[in-house]
Amino acid sequence: MSDEALLSIDGLTVRFGGLTAVDDLSFQVRRGRIHALIGPNGAGKSTTFNCISRYYDPTGGSISLEGQDITRHGAAHMAALGVARTFQNLELFGELSVEENVLLGTYAYGARGLGRLLRRPAAGNRELAHHLLERVGLVDVLDAKANSLDFGRQKMLELARALAIKPRLLLLDEPAAGLRNREIDKLDGILSELATREGVTVLLVEHVMQLVMSISDRITVMSFGHKIAEGTPAQIRSDERVIEAYLGKGADHE
Ligand code: ADP
Ligand code: MG
Repeated sequence: MSDEALLSIDGLTVRFGGLTAVDDLSFQVRRGRIHALIGPNGAGKSTTFNCISRYYDPTGGSISLEGQDITRHGAAHMAALGVARTFQNLELFGELSVEENVLLGTYAYGARGLGRLLRRPAAGNRELAHHLLERVGLVDVLDAKANSLDFGRQKMLELARALAIKPRLLLLDEPAAGLRNREIDKLDGILSELATREGVTVLLVEHVMQLVMSISDRITVMSFGHKIAEGTPAQIRSDERVIEAYLGKGADHE
């Protein structure tokens, strides 16, 4: 049971005019695992990611979640399916507090009257928000405005907000970009714990190889829209095509 595919990408193709950004890509992500999608800039990683989170419509192919075809689902319905995402460039409510940003996450199932919800959150939601903020190390700044935090802390806040929907699939686009080493270690610990202890499945796009190689169960490597390799961190690290297309070029410094 625990080994079956939670997410299955089959023949995914995305064209933007004459450009084929993703070309017949297939891979599966198993339940409770951490799966990384890596490759040089422009490889099609974010485009793939945006199809899975339903921000982009693929030109061809299909995406399924636990066997259910979600290829044409609306992005707004993804939270209800237990799919949460963070953004490569942050998308927080900068003028709202840290606590309010996470509380909004707890209402991702279809909030109405957000102002009222923030003033009088349902029982349990404030506790959940505090628990998540504790986990990412932000419980001491509950009332700070989101945009007053430094970049690393804003990324942690976005993670806490994504976790507020209690996702079964967490999609992270470059969660470690711009983080200091200490923050990357913390992220490593949080993601590993989510997967191993809580069975959350994580798909991340990431350039920071220190993190990718440390936490991933499996890695899919893309270049120019194609999958060029897939395997464990040890297999990927020594794959000649991957070294040629990506790792040999100083992947961490793109
Ligand atoms: P990565 O995340 O691997 O760096 P992307 O998926 O962002 O790569 O981009 C893959 C290719 O698709 C690039 O050539 C990029 O310029 C192009 N692309 C991405 N999004 C769009 C878009 N909305 N419109 C047109 N071209 C796009
Ligand atoms: Mg990208």
